[in-house]
Amino acid sequence: SKYSRDDIIRIVEEEDVEFIRLQFTDIFGMLKNVAVTAGQLAKALDNRCMFDGSAIEGFVRIDESDMYLHPDLNTFEIFPWRPQQGRVARLICDVYNPDGTPFKGDPRYVLKRAVKRAADMGYVFQVGPECEFFLFHADEEGCPTTETHERAGYFDVSPIDLGENVRRDIVLTLEEMGFEVEASHHEIAPGQHEIDLQYTDALKAADHIMTFKMAAKTIAKRHGLHATFMPKPKEGVNGSGMHINMSLCDALGKNLFADEKDPLGLSGLAYRFMAGILAHMKEMTILTNPIVNSYKRLIPGYDAPIYIAWSSTSNRSSLIRIPSPRGQSTRIELRCPDSAMNPYLALAACLQAGLDGIEKNLTLPPCVEGNLFGMEPEELKNRGVERIPETLGDAMEAYAGNLFIKDVLGEHIYVKYLEAKEQEWRDFRSQVTNWEIGQYLYKY
Ligand code: GLU
Ligand code: MG
Ligand code: MG
Repeated sequence: SKYSRDDIIRIVEEEDVEFIRLQFTDIFGMLKNVAVTAGQLAKALDNRCMFDGSAIEGFVRIDESDMYLHPDLNTFEIFPWRPQQGRVARLICDVYNPDGTPFKGDPRYVLKRAVKRAADMGYVFQVGPECEFFLFHADEEGCPTTETHERAGYFDVSPIDLGENVRRDIVLTLEEMGFEVEASHHEIAPGQHEIDLQYTDALKAADHIMTFKMAAKTIAKRHGLHATFMPKPKEGVNGSGMHINMSLCDALGKNLFADEKDPLGLSGLAYRFMAGILAHMKEMTILTNPIVNSYKRLIPGYDAPIYIAWSSTSNRSSLIRIPSPRGQSTRIELRCPDSAMNPYLALAACLQAGLDGIEKNLTLPPCVEGNLFGMEPEELKNRGVERIPETLGDAMEAYAGNLFIKDVLGEHIYVKYLEAKEQEWRDFRSQVTNWEIGQYLYKY
């Protein structure tokens, strides 16, 4: 453990921390927190802080709604962007029932269970996320728009890219918070950026994703911009994905996906892991791509996958590709996830799917090379290549009643999630969109 209870009490005192935010994530991937003052820290560290669970979407229980927060001491962090006096720190927490059992609706618990299954098999799941997002302008009222100054480059007097400054600021802030940032660069669309986080174990990676999104939004706002992780905020340009690099290592950190003797440099374990993901992809798509808008990104022509296939090269149209580094850096890259996902649930599903592939000794279908967008649907069908669900409705159908998914999520989350997605899909289907008005109002 990085910090002991005493360490945290001492740091809070020394660093003049006034507020501690006890954070957790709801089923739909929203970060929540209860702030306590430094005076309450001892109580918080004794797992005695509680909140009303019925106020949290998807958490509601009929009989008891008092939930207890158990801080994970390793997640203690002081926010660098808050005042230097009267500072603000946070602790990420697990959610517990009053009787001391873990709350089954806590997404972090779902991931911890998956991580435990891997550990029992002798594996550690390593995850490196690539986070794409847009930086858009806010209007006069401070409300986010989908406008970016970068598109209006013609009017710019000096070639200063405001976005680059913000990105730099985000990276430096993350480093101050102990993150290792692998790389950062401008993405394909105007106003689009990417920040790649250094790989780490899955639980930490999910915590990092939550923290990263909060930090990016906070810092963008300080620059007068809005950072959005919406998967497809604008038609006609790339959407934002969150590609997930994955590998298994042993308890000593040795990469188990590497095998020099294999023509592709991949181990049997890596192939079986991939086979598990492909086999379970359809039913878990609603976790990696959770909202109506997610499916606007998964269309041909924008570097996002649409077919359930893998490729041994750097082919960007396939669902899984193998990035070129080998040895300790050997990994697979799953390209469908987007940042609207709840990282705890999505990573749990990916890991459990991969472990299933290993346990059941699943055979990986042959790789499909070349640009899949250019292939005839007929040809792909002959090769047995299936589509990723095309809409939230399709994804829901693949999810509903699926035993693998029920097992990954547990009954509580499985049911709450399905109810919420049914509602979302119903709402969306009842909308009459501007596109329809434009297309049909005059014609019919
Ligand atoms: N923005 C693309 C996506 O929607 C990915 C571009 C890339 O290959 O980095 O997934
Ligand atoms: Mg990218
Ligand atoms: Mg990538």
